[in-house]
Amino acid sequence: MNNECKIVMDLLPLYLESMVSKETSEFIEAHLEKCPECKAELSVFKEDDFTPVIKDEKVTDAQKGKPFKKIMKKMNLQMHSISYLLIIFFIFFGFLSMDNENVFYNSIIMPVVGVFGYIIFRFSAFYKLPVLLLLINFLASQFGWVDIEFSGVFFWTAIFTIFVFIGILIAGLIEFALRKEK
Ligand SMILES: [Zn+2]
Repeated sequence: MNNECKIVMDLLPLYLESMVSKETSEFIEAHLEKCPECKAELSVFKEDDFTPVIKDEKVTDAQKGKPFKKIMKKMNLQMHSISYLLIIFFIFFGFLSMDNENVFYNSIIMPVVGVFGYIIFRFSAFYKLPVLLLLINFLASQFGWVDIEFSGVFFWTAIFTIFVFIGILIAGLIEFALRKEK
């Protein structure tokens, strides 16, 4: 165990209770990223309600599995952030092609938006995505990114919403089917 590990392990209880500065927590996170030992320690801390554990104890198989769970959780979080970015990107792309011949791509883009929206919002995507669509559509017309009339904003939002709903339904059905298989 090197010095950095000792420092990180000492700070872990404080870190878990968010009692460290931003810089310190970034330092700890950076270290946890590259150090499986400390990462395992972190999950043990969490499990034991912050009771310090005996160091150098043999890591059990169960504990070995913990960091993996953490990684899975982190991946979920990353997937959410990526989905968010993709949604915004696709919606923008969709709207920017609204006043030209690429408009037909939206019949593919908008269902994709629906799928990613379902990943993030689950079924509340049914009202959150239309709101997002309306907002971006409105901005796009206000700032003149696309050449549509104000009245067209609602029309296009409605059209895109239909395609987005198709995407949400597809994602929901796929999840339902996968769950049944298990
Ligand atoms: Zn370490």
